[in-house]
Amino acid sequence: MGTPMNNPYGIPAQPFEPPAWQEYAICRQSDPERWFPEKGGSTKVIKKICNSCPVQYECLEYALDNGEAFGVWGGLSEQERRLLRRRTRHSVDVEARRAHVARLTAAGLDSEQIATELRMTARQVLRDRAALKKQAS
Ligand code: SF4
Repeated sequence: MGTPMNNPYGIPAQPFEPPAWQEYAICRQSDPERWFPEKGGSTKVIKKICNSCPVQYECLEYALDNGEAFGVWGGLSEQERRLLRRRTRHSVDVEARRAHVARLTAAGLDSEQIATELRMTARQVLRDRAALKKQAS
């Protein structure tokens, strides 16, 4: 059996299997181009449709997981998804930092020592400790 012309590496082509949730996507019944408006174009109507879509969550998760950089997915524009990714990353960073602060506090280090260890200011350490205390209460 010969190798197809568009497959120079000889790797058998895998048929594209769309995710199962796409079967329930409202946008399947519409012109997909509408979800990829021109720069500066309105996304208001599209987002409204997305907000009533039964697979909105799955769609957004897919777009975030796959770094979809264009169009409206799960009711969010590319700019909104970028922002969401940044915020999520930031909150994960804060949680991880506070976990370190808690661990080092439990180990008996003072705020200056923790600040040096984690390359932050003593003031930030105190703020994180206050936040941790509040969470615990
Ligand atoms: S949320 Fe919007 S883009 Fe995603 S599947 Fe539903 S209608 Fe399509």
